[in-house]
This record gives sequence, C-alpha cells and structure tokens, in this order.
Amino acid sequence: MARKLEEAVNAHQELSRNCRASAPNPRHPQVLIYDVPDSTGDKSEVEAAFIDKLRVSNNLPPGTIRVVFRRPGRGSFHHLVLAMDPAIFAHLKGSNRLHWGFGSFRFREYCEPQQCFKCYRFGHVRNACSAPRPLCPRCLGDHPHIECTETTVTCRNCHAFNLRNRSAPRLSTAHTAVSTKCPLFIRERDELSKKVKYAQ
Ligand SMILES: [Zn+2]
Ligand SMILES: [Zn+2]
Ligand SMILES: [Zn+2]
Repeated sequence: MARKLEEAVNAHQELSRNCRASAPNPRHPQVLIYDVPDSTGDKSEVEAAFIDKLRVSNNLPPGTIRVVFRRPGRGSFHHLVLAMDPAIFAHLKGSNRLHWGFGSFRFREYCEPQQCFKCYRFGHVRNACSAPRPLCPRCLGDHPHIECTETTVTCRNCHAFNLRNRSAPRLSTAHTAVSTKCPLFIRERDELSKKVKYAQ
C-alpha cells in the first residue's frame, strides 16, 4: 500500500511538482550486475537459482538478496539490479567482479534515482507515467527522441526548474534530460545516497 501511494503521488503531475513521496524505510545497498545471460524457465526460480549460485561462489554472509529490476544489456543479455543486506554489500567492497561458478560478472554499486523514460521526470517509472505522449529527452518537444531534429540539446527538467523557481540561480539547460551531468539528476542521486543504509 505504501508503495502504491508513493507511486501515485510521484506520478501525479500537479502533486509531483510540489512534493515527493518516499517510503520511510532506509534503502538497502544495490548493485548492478552487467550482462547476465538469459535463462529460460520460471522467472522467480531462475532469479533464486542465480542468487544462490552467487552466494556460494562468493562465499557471501547470510542475509537477504533480492532482484529489484532488470534492464536490457549487450545483445540478448540483461543487467540485473540486486538489493542486499548491508553486511553482504560490505563483503563485496573493493571488488568489481562477482564470481559465478567458473565464470564471473562485472558489477558496480547502483544508486541512481528513478527516472521515467516517457516524460523524463524523476520519481516514477514509465508504467506509472501520466504524460499523454512520449516527450523528448533532447529538446522541449513532445516527440520520441528518435524523431528529434533539434541540433542543440535542452534539458526539459532544468528548463522547467528555471521556470518554476524564478528567484533561484539559473540551471544550465545545455544537456539532455538523461545526462548524468544534469544538476537535477546529481541532486536526486545525492539525496538517494543519503538514504542508503550501509551498516547493519
Ligand atoms: Zn513520466
Ligand atoms: Zn526533440
Ligand atoms: Zn538537467
């Protein structure tokens, strides 16, 4: 219920301009594992088997590990984002590879704000988006990015921030809405990292 409420508030165009809902519980550390091959079979069984093999191969301490989401990777592979107990994350510190049987996967800590890939705002995902049409991450237009003909990029989030906050210092808008250099992205990421619980 809390999650539903959170998503509803954050997806609401008017509300999300003024406030941001977030669950009160601290966030567990997350890692993104690169280019995991697809396996056939029941999704939750496949994920459980994957996690079990990770535990054994890396001699991980006991505790919860769960799949948060997956995103497309190279070719038919996908990247897997896992949340885990702080003790397990601490065990992985200083490494960028996870053993998995005789092989291994590259990984990194994952601490990125949720961003919608339809309207490019932060705090909700595409499925919870209330925008009637896909918006452009490269300019202020309402067209999919592949149809964009603009030669200079403008971040729609920073542009909107400047309009809303006329007395605040101007943000540069000369970047795309998916740029990791976007000052609003950086602010969201910093806020998120403060919520991560690294110690038990
Ligand atoms: Zn959206
Ligand atoms: Zn465009
Ligand atoms: Zn921006």
